[in-house]
Amino acid sequence: MKVKIIKGTNQIGGCITEITSKKARIIIDFGEDLPNPESNIPKTNPLIDGLTTGTKKYDAVIITHSHGDHIGLIKYVLADIPIYVEKESKKIYDLLNAFTYQENNHPTQDVDFQKPIIIKDMQITFFITDHSSYNSAMVLVESEGQKILHTGDYRNHGRKCKIFKKKLQEIGEVDLLITEGTTLSRPKEKYQTEEELERAATTLFKKYNQVFILQASTNIDRIVSFYKASKKTHKVFIEDIFTANITNALNAKIPTPKTFADVYTWIPLKYNNKPTSFKEKYLSPFKDYTNSSVVFKDFTMLVKASMLKDIQKLAAKKALTNACLVYSMWEGYLDQEGLSQFIAGVKALGIDYHFLHTSGHGDDTARKIVEEITKPKITIPIHTENKEAATQIFKSALILDDGEEIEI
Ligand SMILES: [Zn+2]
Ligand SMILES: [Zn+2]
Repeated sequence: MKVKIIKGTNQIGGCITEITSKKARIIIDFGEDLPNPESNIPKTNPLIDGLTTGTKKYDAVIITHSHGDHIGLIKYVLADIPIYVEKESKKIYDLLNAFTYQENNHPTQDVDFQKPIIIKDMQITFFITDHSSYNSAMVLVESEGQKILHTGDYRNHGRKCKIFKKKLQEIGEVDLLITEGTTLSRPKEKYQTEEELERAATTLFKKYNQVFILQASTNIDRIVSFYKASKKTHKVFIEDIFTANITNALNAKIPTPKTFADVYTWIPLKYNNKPTSFKEKYLSPFKDYTNSSVVFKDFTMLVKASMLKDIQKLAAKKALTNACLVYSMWEGYLDQEGLSQFIAGVKALGIDYHFLHTSGHGDDTARKIVEEITKPKITIPIHTENKEAATQIFKSALILDDGEEIEI
């Protein structure tokens, strides 16, 4: 097989990998560049011949998870190229589209974990991994008796850390490994596990009556951590309506208003202007679980940067007696104008500010686990701003540039 990193040997996010066998040619991941995966900034078509322009040269596009830097450009893929996305990731992506009014007119094929997809002489299998996006996948590509593993994004300090190792063991040895290396360029610090973060959150929540949290709605591990901390400190847990739609759609026991007695939803003021069809589909199903008119004394509320007016409204009602805002995302996003204005607006109400986060990406320990279990003959780092550092960790590291092709 041949491997070409079309884009991603020198950047975090927006990576595009091409794998070619004797008969088939596929793309793994097709997302937009960071640092703004969930924004409304227009995404440009990267114009790849046979993928987004001209006539079809690819047999499939495979998506590892629902983060915008992996899936965000699929609407540009030629209509006759099938796109494969794991079922639950697909639900998250559809809701992201519905709530941000981005058009996705390219249908996708549902994928189940460990049910191989056959594309000509290629067999492609998704394995669940540990990452900050729900049901993220590693992708094993097999053809001509060779195995290539594309890790997608991963860590081993989340709620799926045990599954991460188990699934790697099930995959076993591979010929070539394509691994993300996000943290190769970040300070070498030990990342908190989600359980440790939950304990830190519990300690923090004890000091406040009202806690606002700014986090990604797709980070289900984090929702669970904050829900548990909220429950331990006797607070009602309130999810903004977008998050509530996501937690409700997923096929797992995740804190969500309809099935958890202590979970409610908040419909932000900005949704007043949404069309009736939108309200009927995404707001009405939650009308019995909303707290927009009732105000609890002690609560934890997931918020968005667009909800400053909502928080001001609560302050005007004298509902905020002892409140804080917890920022729980990558600090790199803080440079965005909307986010910094929101935080300044919240602070202006006399609300304390705290940073509490752990990365969605693994450290050297996680990378060592991948190498020790899969024993690759070649390891290509992508999704990194410091690919050379991979040579200090992976015995078989091969440093490629964008567009360079290798054959195994
Ligand atoms: Zn990524
Ligand atoms: Zn990701």
